[in-house]
Amino acid sequence: MARVPGRRQGADVVTALPGGPALVVRGPGVFGLEDRTAVAPGPGEVRITPLFVGVCGTDLEIIDGRMDPDYVRYPLVIGHEWSGVVAATGDRADRFRAGRFQAGDTVVVEGIIPDGVCAACRAGRTNLCAVYDELGFMRDGAAGPSVTVPERLVHRLGPGIPAEAGALVEPLSVVLRGLLEANPERGGRMLVIGDGTVALLAAHALRLWSPSEVVVSGRRPEQAGLARTMGADAFTVEPAPERSFDFVVEAAGNIDAVQSALTAPRRGGSVLLLGIAGHGRTITTAADDIVNNDLRIRGSFGYTAEAWRSAVALLNSGALTPLPLITHRFPLENFAEAVDALRHGAGDGPRGKILLTLDRRASTS
Ligand SMILES: [Zn+2]
Repeated sequence: MARVPGRRQGADVVTALPGGPALVVRGPGVFGLEDRTAVAPGPGEVRITPLFVGVCGTDLEIIDGRMDPDYVRYPLVIGHEWSGVVAATGDRADRFRAGRFQAGDTVVVEGIIPDGVCAACRAGRTNLCAVYDELGFMRDGAAGPSVTVPERLVHRLGPGIPAEAGALVEPLSVVLRGLLEANPERGGRMLVIGDGTVALLAAHALRLWSPSEVVVSGRRPEQAGLARTMGADAFTVEPAPERSFDFVVEAAGNIDAVQSALTAPRRGGSVLLLGIAGHGRTITTAADDIVNNDLRIRGSFGYTAEAWRSAVALLNSGALTPLPLITHRFPLENFAEAVDALRHGAGDGPRGKILLTLDRRASTS
């Protein structure tokens, strides 16, 4: 269907599609603000105005050109951790079915767009879809004036849930997908290796498994307070003691951390690997120890649609309260400061999630 400004677009009448600055990566090392115009929603689609966009190490890899080229398409508007407000809905493909969304709804959007028909999708493993398509990687992300997506990817935030917290649903979904698959024994001693966003969200989410103790092992002592706020009982910069934990999550994304993760579980314990330690990096480990210690080792890639639904439900119910993890906010125009803070740190205090704010309401109040 032709997308013609001025025709009736479901819930609203579009006279002129909005535009505005977007953070565009032209190619490796070349990025800045460029004007972009919104795309009108077609049948079954929703147009969303982004409010908050988190930035992470993966965005740095995209900016620097360190991503596997099969997983990024330039030029690209970055932004895959975000929340926004519904601006318009398209005509219904099925006119007898009411649309689920209205203008003004605060929402989050699954970034991985599965085709829904391949063998992996039909088995529920939408993170392994045969066709890789993801907002902020293969198509324009949220650090711009507008995002238009299929309605099936959109999830409403509950009343009273701050839109900022929605920007954490993406990394939370990554964590939950891993934890739900690894299924730690309730009441166990748990160790999280790493002190970044994913690690601290893992410490937070592990509370759902009623641990006897959650220890976070990181490299930056200034993260200790933030780790405790997120649910850790203890924070240590010492290497993890060997063979002492029931369940270990590696979320640091470096080889040393993976090595530690493999020696930290007790006999019969299990390990979940969430960090990406660099393309092709190898570990050395005593193979007999894996067998003799009866270890379960599990990797987890991205998130499934089911994990995303769980993340939204746990956020909306108040069972998870990740908001304190957001420590830095920069207006979109100050993107260079945000990227610098991500790359080099931001002062002496703790650093949790860094957000770009596109919320015009917030900036005028
Ligand atoms: Zn698929």
